[in-house]
Amino acid sequence: MEQDGEHVLICVAWPYANGPLHLGHVAGCYLPPDIQARFERAIGNRVLMVSGSDEHGTPITVTAEQEGVKPQDIVDKFHQINADALLKLGCSWEPKVDSRGADYGGALFNRTSDERHKKIVKDNFLKLLEAGFFERKTTQQYFELSSSGDGRFLPDRYVEGTCPNCGYDDARGDQCDECGSTYEAIELKNPRSKMNPDSTIEVRDTDHFFYRLDLFQKVLEQHAMSKEKVWKSNVKAMTKQWLDMGLRSRAVTRDLSWGIPLPLDGDEWLGKCVYVWFEAVQGYSTCAQIWSSQEEVVSSHSMGPNAWKAWWEIDGNGTKPRHLYFLGKDNIPFHTVIWPALIMGLNHANAGLDISTPVTLPGPGDLALEHNVPAMEYLMLAGGQFSKSRKHAVWLPSFLESFDPDTLRYYLSINMPENHDTDFNWPDFVEKINSELIAAYGNFVHRILTLGSRLPQSVNGPYERLEIQEGNIEHKAKLEQIHSEITSSLNKHRFKEALRSSMKAAQYGNQIIQSAAPWKFLSPEAQITDDGKESLATLSFGWRICRFLSIVMQPFMPFSSQKLWNNLGQDGYVSEVGWSEAINWDTPMTWNTDKAEPLFKRLDLSEILEHEKSLVSSESDDEKHNHTVKGGKKGGKKMSKEVEGIKYLEFDDFMKVELKVGKIINVEEHPNADKLYVVKLDDGNNGRTICAGIKEFYSVDQLVGMTVVFVANLKPRPLRGITSEGMMLAADDGNGQVKLVTIDGEIGTGSTVR
Ligand SMILES: [Zn+2]
Repeated sequence: MEQDGEHVLICVAWPYANGPLHLGHVAGCYLPPDIQARFERAIGNRVLMVSGSDEHGTPITVTAEQEGVKPQDIVDKFHQINADALLKLGCSWEPKVDSRGADYGGALFNRTSDERHKKIVKDNFLKLLEAGFFERKTTQQYFELSSSGDGRFLPDRYVEGTCPNCGYDDARGDQCDECGSTYEAIELKNPRSKMNPDSTIEVRDTDHFFYRLDLFQKVLEQHAMSKEKVWKSNVKAMTKQWLDMGLRSRAVTRDLSWGIPLPLDGDEWLGKCVYVWFEAVQGYSTCAQIWSSQEEVVSSHSMGPNAWKAWWEIDGNGTKPRHLYFLGKDNIPFHTVIWPALIMGLNHANAGLDISTPVTLPGPGDLALEHNVPAMEYLMLAGGQFSKSRKHAVWLPSFLESFDPDTLRYYLSINMPENHDTDFNWPDFVEKINSELIAAYGNFVHRILTLGSRLPQSVNGPYERLEIQEGNIEHKAKLEQIHSEITSSLNKHRFKEALRSSMKAAQYGNQIIQSAAPWKFLSPEAQITDDGKESLATLSFGWRICRFLSIVMQPFMPFSSQKLWNNLGQDGYVSEVGWSEAINWDTPMTWNTDKAEPLFKRLDLSEILEHEKSLVSSESDDEKHNHTVKGGKKGGKKMSKEVEGIKYLEFDDFMKVELKVGKIINVEEHPNADKLYVVKLDDGNNGRTICAGIKEFYSVDQLVGMTVVFVANLKPRPLRGITSEGMMLAADDGNGQVKLVTIDGEIGTGSTVR
């Protein structure tokens, strides 16, 4: 392979083991890293891919209690189901050790119930505690009294009540689904236990440890700044939002028995465990360590049981392994703020330092921070959000029972929610498979294979003797250009763009064969004419295009690529072929005399919709949601025509935004957020309060009296305990300059901006 091999760690978000994966998860978290890992291997890099089932936390205990089984039963069941489904989808979790040897990495889909994971988490907990990164605080938590006199603390998910904001009766413990506001559980009115609504619940004090994220504010800002040109805009924006709010300590322990117990002596810690966020996120590192403790790795990797360090530590020259994290947008701050803060805390503790020394960014010998977090937006289902809890979903395991995994991989890749939400619906799925994938790629390949079988055969097939080695220069140049486009897109994690470029090779193939019309020259007499020779030389180049396609399509559609590889008479596995082999025009031609079957099967929409109906009614009797799973765009938003990278807004949508002129009459510091001001605005009406993250850029005196433009109809939302009623417009150059939008001259407050 072509490179010496950079160490690349592919980190895949850990799925909760409380239900089967759905297509939204696949598009957002599980397919993109597999494409990337396959590509990185093909270009010769040393790739270790890590993930596993997240098996602790309340979503799992809630499911278990509702089904009347043990949490362990739930996680055992869904770990297996999801691990199997991912393999069936072609995700490269097997083999665990790269075929080139352990020095080249491998993959491990682990689980957080692994005792080795628990041990590392406990060790890390103690290291961080000792270095002073935890503070102990007394908090209030609901406690449910049982009839026998004892009881248990209730996590927020176990509490329901009346929303303190809008009065909705079935508000959740920390959030109201009706008005969207968030609050502390103890602010709920008429609180009750979700599982035992009739039991008595009371508020009790309980002690917990909190991680001092505030100590990392500065280094995380530096880190985010250094990623300005690497991160996507959604990653930058969400990270900035967190950092602008000012980081505060975050609970790392909770009252719950399902999880990793605290590694501390003393009755006061009984019944408490490590918060699931704190341990699951460490899985990226524990999984690598567990991978490298396997016999096969220990005995064959040059670093033995320390093999994992090759993917985690910055070496003596400052060379960093490249860490890529794949996840959905809801998880961004965990991976750009919280996880880096834990890594830097561990580096600090490992160096024997405590919090009396300021934390610094990692250097040689330290654990590395992420290089990129190519987070995805959401894949929607027929216009609505996929939801495990509301059962509005197409489940991966049942999808794979009926469909070819490569068709799903194609559809989700060409429709990947890279820059904005995209939509899954059955008519579109059928359309894209039949009229794009099969019409362009499948048909081209089939043409080359069937026309070849009608030509005279030699030892190396029909095409070898027809090829004119010096010919086809223009075609070669075209494919070389496409190859470099695909490579460049994949290096930037632009999967959709890369697949579109790959499809261009098939379209190009169809074009040149169409104009060469080789079917006119299949008879022995025609073959020897000059026109015949030229036309058949072009046809023979079709074989090379097929080989090109097999190699570049492999990261996207591994099964059909391998099938094509075999059909061409090539040996071994296409997944082990170097990336630049695709444009090696000197490879001797080969052939497979077996009759070639089409790469893909055409889909029939009416059959699918019928099948889906039966699938839905057998799985769920919830009539309310049935129509949404069947497909079609019923009730769904129509997608606008879009240009890549631009999310167009309908004019009507823009007109919904009410911009008005206001005058700042008073400014105070936000009591709970370091970077926010609480601004009182004369809005021409009764006045309003806006929380604004502009403290770094303006003093109170500068602001008071300023005429500004604000969004008047933004839904009020609580920001750290104060409800913000709108937003002031400001310009941000991305380099630390922020200026409020003001009005040129005098005009009354409340005037409309348009
Ligand atoms: Zn509410």
